[in-house]
Amino acid sequence: MFKKVLVANRGEIACRVIRACKEMGIRTVAIYSEADKEALHVKMADEAYLVGPAPSAQSYLNIDRIIEVARESGSEAIHPGYGFLAENPAFIERVEQNGIVFIGPNSEAVKAMGLKVEARRIMKSAGVPIVPGTVDPISSLDEAKKVASEIGYPVILKASAGGGGIGMQIARDEAELEQAFNMCQKRAQAYFGDPTVYIEKYIEKPRHIEIQVLADKHGNVIHVNERECSIQRRHQKVIEEAPSTVVTPELRKRMGEAAVAAARSINYDNAGTVEFIVDPNLNFYFLEMNTRIQVEHPVTEMTTGIDLVKWQIRIAYGEKLALRQEDVVINGHAIECRIYAEDPDKNFMPSPGKITKLVWPQGEGIRIDAGVYEGWSVTPYYDPLLAKMIAWGKDREEARIRMINALRSTVIEGIKTNIGFHIGALSHPLFIEGKTYTTFVEDMKNYK
Ligand code: ADP
Ligand code: ADP
Ligand code: MG
Repeated sequence: MFKKVLVANRGEIACRVIRACKEMGIRTVAIYSEADKEALHVKMADEAYLVGPAPSAQSYLNIDRIIEVARESGSEAIHPGYGFLAENPAFIERVEQNGIVFIGPNSEAVKAMGLKVEARRIMKSAGVPIVPGTVDPISSLDEAKKVASEIGYPVILKASAGGGGIGMQIARDEAELEQAFNMCQKRAQAYFGDPTVYIEKYIEKPRHIEIQVLADKHGNVIHVNERECSIQRRHQKVIEEAPSTVVTPELRKRMGEAAVAAARSINYDNAGTVEFIVDPNLNFYFLEMNTRIQVEHPVTEMTTGIDLVKWQIRIAYGEKLALRQEDVVINGHAIECRIYAEDPDKNFMPSPGKITKLVWPQGEGIRIDAGVYEGWSVTPYYDPLLAKMIAWGKDREEARIRMINALRSTVIEGIKTNIGFHIGALSHPLFIEGKTYTTFVEDMKNYK
């Protein structure tokens, strides 16, 4: 096994990866920016190196410096976490050119899924159902109008290079299309440096259900069940659970097989997630593939007993998957709440500042993946995710009650958080009934 791994990330995911390494007897190397000198991941790692000033472009995205640190520290492999450089094929190539192992998929597979229109085209040829829409970029408003009237309104415009729920625009009729098209193009350029946009049919009252896959470098591919991630704000997940309340063993098998086919079609290796949108009739359509560990991976771990991060490391080392499809079972139910430093009353805007008091909950079935500690100041430079709180129960109701109790006994002072929002969501009749489609957050407020 590797003796030393560099973790090219920060926050809770860097801590999570360091924990897996420690359990495997691997030494860990952290990197940090000037804003993160006192960060938790720096304290947890065996060694830590400054990589640059606070802005991520100069630190956590500074490929030259990260490679230099990997070489200087004698790291044999790099785990990228999620976000930052995790899905950057140029980074993967640089890592490999330096004789270092990238703990993630091969760069070709990442490239294939990096541009969403391209990914749609590949999936279509692999026989994986995609959301109706274009498999070519849309370059003018006229073309957008033509395509939209063909597939029928409402439509959703997306940045091909997009992610994190950013830039998507819904148009319900031709009058709304012009502004939506211009806005989407503008955001695509501003956030992702690529103005390419495409159009999909907007599915009403959908669920977001994704399939975890694990693939080794020897051609073995399995899926590790679904995660239901429909509870979102600004198209970004905030509550996730496994299993989904609507997925039957039969549907799980079909979605699982589609995800495995998707992975095989691009010679995927390592852990990855195939995201699907599921309509009210339970038709499922490929949305995108995330070629990395996912934020919400713990709900899969808690219900299967499979440590996904350890498997990422073993697969990258070249080990064969010791798991067969029939070894993957579901034990109980898990719910995850993403705890953000944000203000639910101000459209979930980030709320950085010093954490003056912090007490995490305890008890049977509760897991906390945190990236912060009492006395730490949340900086405005990065994603304001503080921690993930995961509750496991023998069934959904036990997990739900445990989660609410855990949220209620959490103390975070000095900054605003979304804990109150989570308690409201989990106590809501729609959630209790399992009616967790993607407009849940808006519907929750209007529900009588
Ligand atoms: P997942 O798809 O794993 O559920 P998110 O959509 O929350 O996760 O994205 C994962 C993480 O990746 C985010 O928390 C954020 O840190 C990072 N991320 C996603 N999109 C972007 C982006 N466009 N720019 C910068 N960071 C991003
Ligand atoms: P990102 O890369 O930002 O994660 P996705 O394509 O995965 O983008 O979509 C994120 C979310 O946006 C989905 O989970 C869903 O809530 C919404 N969404 C995306 N495409 C559609 C669609 N065609 N119809 C309805 N909702 C959609
Ligand atoms: Mg997505």
